[in-house]
Amino acid sequence: MTDWSTETLHADYAQSLKVGTLIYDSETEHQRLRVFENGTFGRVLTLDGVVQVTEGDNFIYHEMMAHVPIIAHGAARRVLIIGGGDGGMAREVLKHRDVTHVTMVEIDAGVVEFSKEYLPGISAGAFDDPRLELVIADGADFIRQTAGGYDVIIVDSTDPIGPGEVLFSDTFYGHAKRALTDDGILVTQNGVPFMQGEELTNTMRAFRALFTDATCYLATIPTYAGGPMAFGWGTDGPARSTPPEVLRGRFEATGITTAYYTPEVHAAAFALPGYVSKLIP
Ligand code: SAM
Repeated sequence: MTDWSTETLHADYAQSLKVGTLIYDSETEHQRLRVFENGTFGRVLTLDGVVQVTEGDNFIYHEMMAHVPIIAHGAARRVLIIGGGDGGMAREVLKHRDVTHVTMVEIDAGVVEFSKEYLPGISAGAFDDPRLELVIADGADFIRQTAGGYDVIIVDSTDPIGPGEVLFSDTFYGHAKRALTDDGILVTQNGVPFMQGEELTNTMRAFRALFTDATCYLATIPTYAGGPMAFGWGTDGPARSTPPEVLRGRFEATGITTAYYTPEVHAAAFALPGYVSKLIP
């Protein structure tokens, strides 16, 4: 009989992925962790049936969270990643040769070790890059204590349940702002607005109180079902108004190859449909 992995994150909507070869399946103390091979998406990691990352479509999520703020900033040297245990975000950030230091703060050492073993293609060697400093700690504790000085902070978190919940609090956002340089940029994973609108509204309310430029931008990621995903964007700098030709010049100068990000997609991602704008207070 065909085995399907069914995600029931949302009350009235589910998606299923066919489990080709089951590679890992274990009931941990807290959750069921599975890795399986799917014909379309390659290796898929689920926690309690909720897709965390797939080999096939992670490039969209990671490219859009890493390159949009770094290219828009134009001179990012120090980057902080909160969460990101699978290593895909570090992979994209470290493609920027001008980035001299990346701090990655992941709460669960097990996610890092597991990803290295079962999903090595996601981090693609990022954990061996000498510019990467891996800190195993709660991102909220870290950010309260750090001296800061980050040009870009990327919050690559789980949904706002369990350990990830604190990464969606006003207090956390306030500390994140303090950890940024004057023109630094904060970007956050904010779920799928059609399905998780309140999550976006809450983050945007906090960002509006903290930053002179607070909005979100969008990308469509097939396994995050229900429409485009939103990424929170907060800065006191002028990065969002960088002209498209300047974005293109900066991107070409990096020599980076991407499969989703282009400077044109970057600019267009900030154009919001009416139903998303309505969610921003
Ligand atoms: N993109 C995925 C999604 O939304 O389905 C999630 C990415 S996954 C890399 C998120 C990571 O955040 C997990 O490895 C988790 O352990 C980590 N995380 C959750 N809460 C955290 C916290 N308070 N501090 C640091 N990392 C945390």
